[in-house]
Amino acid sequence: MPVPKRRVGKSRRDRRRANFNLSGPALATCSNCKATIAPHRVCPSCGYYNGRFVLPVKNS
Ligand SMILES: [Zn+2]
Repeated sequence: MPVPKRRVGKSRRDRRRANFNLSGPALATCSNCKATIAPHRVCPSCGYYNGRFVLPVKNS
């Protein structure tokens, strides 16, 4: 079973982990109401998708 010959130093370890950055969720803007929405989903605030009304929105 292979075993690392040398311990990875702090510098090399931290340089590797410097690329483990977390990116936020993908965001898109609704073409109908300009709300920030998840891409490829029906807009939750106006019920439009691809410039077309598809879902009635329940208003409180
Ligand atoms: Zn919308």
